[in-house]
Amino acid sequence: MNHESDFHVKFPLPDTPCMLSGSSIEVVRPYHTQKIRVAIFDFDGTLSLIREGWPEIMIPMMVQVLSELDSGESEAALTALVTDFVHRLTGKQTIYQMLQLVEEIKKRGGQPRDPQWYKEVYHRRLLARIEQRREALRSGEATADQWLVPHSRELLENLHRRGVQLYLASGTDEVYVREEARLLGLDPYFEDRVYGAVNDYRSFSKEAVIRQLLEEKVSDPKQLIGFGDGYVEIENLVRHGGLAVGVASDEQKRDGSVDPWKRPRLISVGAHYIIPDFRDHEALLEHMLEDQN
Ligand SMILES: [Mg+2]
Repeated sequence: MNHESDFHVKFPLPDTPCMLSGSSIEVVRPYHTQKIRVAIFDFDGTLSLIREGWPEIMIPMMVQVLSELDSGESEAALTALVTDFVHRLTGKQTIYQMLQLVEEIKKRGGQPRDPQWYKEVYHRRLLARIEQRREALRSGEATADQWLVPHSRELLENLHRRGVQLYLASGTDEVYVREEARLLGLDPYFEDRVYGAVNDYRSFSKEAVIRQLLEEKVSDPKQLIGFGDGYVEIENLVRHGGLAVGVASDEQKRDGSVDPWKRPRLISVGAHYIIPDFRDHEALLEHMLEDQN
C-alpha cells in the first residue's frame, strides 16, 4: 500500500538564505551530480498556475460542512482548524484532505458521507472557478505563459536538450493533469509520462513513481532530479537520494518573489535548492553539474 506520510520538520532553517551569486537560487544543501538522466515534476504550483487559489474553494466548503454540525465552535475557530489541516496535507492526493474532513465530522458527532462525495463537491466548485482560465487557453484568448510558473517552458526545453527524460506526477486527478498539461502546451515534453491521482487512491503515490524511476531508469539516485512546491515530492526525493529543488513561487505575484509559507516548509523536509521560478534555470543546472564530488 502506498501511504503518503504527513509533514514533519526534519531539517533546520538557515538563519539567512545563502544565494548562488548573481541569481535567484538559494543554496540550502549543495548537491552536485555528474549526470541528470530523469527529471520529475509536480504539476500544480510547480509548473501550472491554472488551479491557483484552490484553498479559497476548499477551506470555506469544509468550514460550511463543519459549521452545520452545531458544535459550538465559532466560524473563525473552524476556519483556523480547517486551514491548518488543508495546508498540512497539501501535496498529497486531494482525497487525503477529504479523509481528514470526514474524521472531523465524526469527532463532532456527525454522520459523514463518503470522502469521494466531498471531493466531488469541492472539485465541481473549483472547476466553476477555473473553467474561465481553461476556456481562455482553449480559445487562444490567453497564452500558456500567463498560466505557467515563469520560465517553465525554458527549463523544460533546457532539460530536453540535455537528453533528460521528463515525468509529471501530481496529486490532482490524472485526467485533469493530462488535459491541463495539453492546454499549457507541455504535452510534447512529457508525452505519456504523466501520473496523477486515481479513484483507487491507494494504488498511486508520488513516492511509488519515484521508486519506479529509480529502479528502472537510473543507475544512481543522483541522476534523478525533482522539482516541486509541496513537501510530499521533496521529502520523497530526499529520502531516496535524489536531487530536490523546491519551487517556492508566489503564485499570485509571479514576479520572482519567494512565497514565505512555501520556502520554510520545503527546506524543513530537505530541499537542496529553493527557487522562486525558473528564470535562472541555466545557472541552476550548471551549478549542479559542476564536478565537485
Ligand atoms: Mg504542487
